Amino acid sequence: MIDLSKRRSPQLINELKRQIELLCQNEVILAYNRPLVIMEVCGTHTASIYRYGIKSILPKQLKLVSGPGCPVCVTTNDILEKALAVACCPEVIFTSFGDMMRVPAASGSLLQRKSEGADIRIVYSPLDALKIAAENPSKQVVFFAIGFETTAPTTAAAIEKAAEKQIKNFSVISVHKTMPEALKLLLPDSKVDGLLCPGHVAAVTGAAAFDFVASELGKASAVAGFEPADIMEAIIAILQSIISGRPVLVNSYPRFVKTEASSYAVAAMNRVFKPCDATWRGLGSIPASGLALREEFAAFDALKRFPEAAQVTGADNPACRCGSVLRGELDPGDCPLMGKVCTPASPAGACMVSGEGACAAYYKYRLK
Ligand code: SF4
Repeated sequence: MIDLSKRRSPQLINELKRQIELLCQNEVILAYNRPLVIMEVCGTHTASIYRYGIKSILPKQLKLVSGPGCPVCVTTNDILEKALAVACCPEVIFTSFGDMMRVPAASGSLLQRKSEGADIRIVYSPLDALKIAAENPSKQVVFFAIGFETTAPTTAAAIEKAAEKQIKNFSVISVHKTMPEALKLLLPDSKVDGLLCPGHVAAVTGAAAFDFVASELGKASAVAGFEPADIMEAIIAILQSIISGRPVLVNSYPRFVKTEASSYAVAAMNRVFKPCDATWRGLGSIPASGLALREEFAAFDALKRFPEAAQVTGADNPACRCGSVLRGELDPGDCPLMGKVCTPASPAGACMVSGEGACAAYYKYRLK
């Protein structure tokens, strides 16, 4: 087992910092005449970058920006309003990951509905929700399934188990999304020069799933782990790739990420879900970027089971700039509401709620 404390050692961090500074003096990098923009698209990377103060030790030729990598943040208020409507049905026990509880929609939040009497429970896994369904056969148990390729296989496993055990009072609102399609939409017209690919997603999909970032979109990229040295080594790989003039994908996280996909997780996902168009906060509707239940599992689709709730609509808060933050166009600190109207205790948008949100990380590590 690797000793992770070594990946945080000041000596190693100083050496990597020195290497980054040296690479930033290369004539290719200096010729940009502006800071190189490197985007991370994983909420855990965002949290690590702020927690370890990585931005503050990088040379001025580098700018790190956050992308649409926090699953709570990219879930729109429209789907949240539908979820709130389902949660308020008297026969429903609504289950959700804790991070979604305080996300504010126009009509309130799951936490607010819970305080008003709705039976809303925090779970750590869809399998916990399935257990609640088995224990409460007179109730409809709904799981709010958010997340990327990392969490979708577990939802798939829960649905297959429900089908096998004939637990018919279990269903899910599937808001699962897949990362490659969002990147194909976002990156070509962006100012992003390099991409820190998400280590958790790549552990499921395999690093090769992100080959297109370099081969099709022409952007240097590296799959990164989550310790400060992991992130800095990935930045070095991106800089070397840019300097070489031949953008490539580097797997800088080989201790967890293989080139090929996890066949078990991907197979489970593919058995239960099929690609569908999905709407992302900040990015709009992206073809084939969501995961819908296949026909044979349609009985577990909560929005089909509660058609009236499915008709409810919602809009994002126009005062909140989460969309710009998620496109990497706005630094959280430049949102006029940051720390004044919008705080973790009173969030105006999803990016201030989730522990993986860029605004929450900025508030916690830069303002406080
Ligand atoms: S600081 Fe608050 S209002 Fe501003 S973008 Fe972030 S979540 Fe939205």
